Amino acid sequence: MSKENLSMAKRLMQAAMEASEYAYTPYSRSGMGAAVMSEEGAIYKGVAMEIKGNDGICAGNAAFSAALAGGVRRFKALAIWQQGKTALPCEACRKAVEELAPDIDIITGTSPEDMVITKLAETPQEEVMKCCQDL
Ligand SMILES: [Zn+2]
Repeated sequence: MSKENLSMAKRLMQAAMEASEYAYTPYSRSGMGAAVMSEEGAIYKGVAMEIKGNDGICAGNAAFSAALAGGVRRFKALAIWQQGKTALPCEACRKAVEELAPDIDIITGTSPEDMVITKLAETPQEEVMKCCQDL
């Protein structure tokens, strides 16, 4: 990975961490945050939103939605972050990546100093520690 890409990944992970402080997850307390980067390098943040009685939205999809609202259609990377755990893209996130940006980098890990950067096909699919929780 080039130095430029590594610094981009760190900035995106940092943005996901910052966003997570504002997650609305009163039931799971997952506090999940995410950020996507457009091809031009603009960062859009998203947080998980849990609403009793509806499906809510996961952090990754919220970040994509924010970027789409900003007119972005081409993406470079998605970072997902949860305090104390390595969060993985949930099924809804994976579908969004498949449809909107199948080749982007997926950045996970516990901090900008401890990141794992993969493509969707290499990203583990685990039911635990996903980016949105079943209520
Ligand atoms: Zn998700």
